[in-house]
Amino acid sequence: MMAAQKDNPCWQGELVLNEPMARHTSWRVGGPAQRFYRPLDLQDLSAYLGQCPEDEPLLWLGLGSNLLVRDAGLPGSVIAMQGVIADIELLEENMIRVGAGASCARVARIAARHDLIGAEFLAGIPGTMGGALAMNAGAFGGETWNIVAGVTSIDRRGMVHQRLPEDYQIAYRQVQGPAGEWFVSADLRLQPGDTDAGQQRIKSLLAQRNASQPIGLPSCGSVFRNPPGDYAARLIEAAGLKGFAIGGAQISDKHANFIINTGDATAANIEELIKHVQAVVEQQFDVCLQTEVHIVGERKV
Ligand SMILES: Cc1cc2nc3c(=O)[nH]c(=O)nc-3n(C[C@H](O)[C@H](O)[C@H](O)COP(=O)(O)OP(=O)(O)OC[C@H]3O[C@@H](n4cnc5c(N)ncnc54)[C@H](O)[C@@H]3O)c2cc1C
Repeated sequence: MMAAQKDNPCWQGELVLNEPMARHTSWRVGGPAQRFYRPLDLQDLSAYLGQCPEDEPLLWLGLGSNLLVRDAGLPGSVIAMQGVIADIELLEENMIRVGAGASCARVARIAARHDLIGAEFLAGIPGTMGGALAMNAGAFGGETWNIVAGVTSIDRRGMVHQRLPEDYQIAYRQVQGPAGEWFVSADLRLQPGDTDAGQQRIKSLLAQRNASQPIGLPSCGSVFRNPPGDYAARLIEAAGLKGFAIGGAQISDKHANFIINTGDATAANIEELIKHVQAVVEQQFDVCLQTEVHIVGERKV
């Protein structure tokens, strides 16, 4: 890893070369990013993008809590958004504007503190607003895009666009929108409520999460999307795979849809375990499990 020389004065953020992605993913695995860029603000992000070659591979990074980066790493630029463009602003009519780099937990807390309800489900999702928009993250019956009134996006030339939910195809943990655009902020429409009730609900959702999930161990949350009418965790458990391990990657004993890095897992261990689970569940139950986690980068040869 080394800090890059600023030979182009048009950007002001922090550029690091060959930054290990294991430092930026919740699984604690992943090879180096060729260029790891943390912009200063929206204007600086726009300037950085504007000077990138047209074919520069770009990967947007929030808190890396739903990303499996392969061991040989990523070509091109990783745009690190956590804590950047992270303001949360109160708007009129029970709306808040949230920067893509704000953590979901902060969004939930600040909404509740201002007597607004509907964002409590975000409290235990260990990602950023940008990641929640990209994944349509959800929990306990709440879903990100159910509260989105509009978003601001940026394209690879650094141009900013205002978009409406109608501009996106939104499904369970899947979002497709205008190609080559990424999220910089969202306007969330909430309901008037009561701070105490909101804070109580946040507490109770976090307690439910702690009771059922291996919180604190390196994972990416649920690896597989639930198939229609069933639960991935139920199928994996019924296939007898709880506790099964490949190298340092292990199916959690507490929640079968979680894969834990027990200490020395590689991305290849995790990917192999994902494939093994898919093969066993398909063989036993004729169900093809689809990954929720995004798998990116190049394999080590
Ligand atoms: C312990 C644990 C519990 C979890 N529980 C839940 C849960 O209850 N519900 C749930 O839905 N998820 C859950 N997750 C998964 C994860 O936290 C969510 O998917 C979260 O929304 C990912 O946000 P992130 O900022 O970490 O995104 P990242 O992992 O950094 O990125 C995920 C994807 O979003 C893209 N992306 C990130 N930022 C942007 C942006 N600004 N614009 C466009 N694309 C972007 C990335 O390129 C990548 O493709 C859990 C994960 C863990 C580790």
